[in-house]
Amino acid sequence: MSKENLIKNIRNIPDFPIPGVQFKDVTTLFKNSECLKELADIMYEMYRDKRITKVVGIESRGFIMGPILALRLNAGFIPIRKSGKLPAETIEESYAKEYGVDTIQIHKDAIDEKDVVLLHDDLLATGGTMEAAYKLVKKFSPKDISVNFIIELKGLGGREIFDKEAKVEAVLEL
Ligand code: AMP
Repeated sequence: MSKENLIKNIRNIPDFPIPGVQFKDVTTLFKNSECLKELADIMYEMYRDKRITKVVGIESRGFIMGPILALRLNAGFIPIRKSGKLPAETIEESYAKEYGVDTIQIHKDAIDEKDVVLLHDDLLATGGTMEAAYKLVKKFSPKDISVNFIIELKGLGGREIFDKEAKVEAVLEL
């Protein structure tokens, strides 16, 4: 199975959720057992030597491959959630969306300075969501942070938003 095959299994939905957006539906990728395994294998190979101790997934599509990868890497899994969902003490970061502001939160005791963190989400568009998550994780001063997506939408230039030292990688480019 090649990366081209993985790309063929992503469903494109035009004008969802609003006119003009080409929505990349990864449920069709996860539905296919060979694609799911191939994706997990590729992601594992990307990070197997990085001594990752915590995989941090962003709600909600980061909660699918995130735990799979954490298990393969012998790392823990940490959720970053939308405001008001986490039960214990949190720290938070807000970021501008097309309409209004969104806030994401992480538990205050989720990460420590000894951790090597891999941040994961399904897709990089403008980069606003992941930049906020990156800032949130940086507050814990972990040893290292890597950033991973399944898909990078190259045309939107989301990668440019990150510091030069940020290690941003995507499995597939569209
Ligand atoms: P952004 O903050 O603009 O990089 O948007 C990233 C978040 O929005 C991710 O959590 C994606 O799941 C979702 N997203 C943005 N654009 C798309 C798209 N064209 N197709 C699928 N999901 C998208």
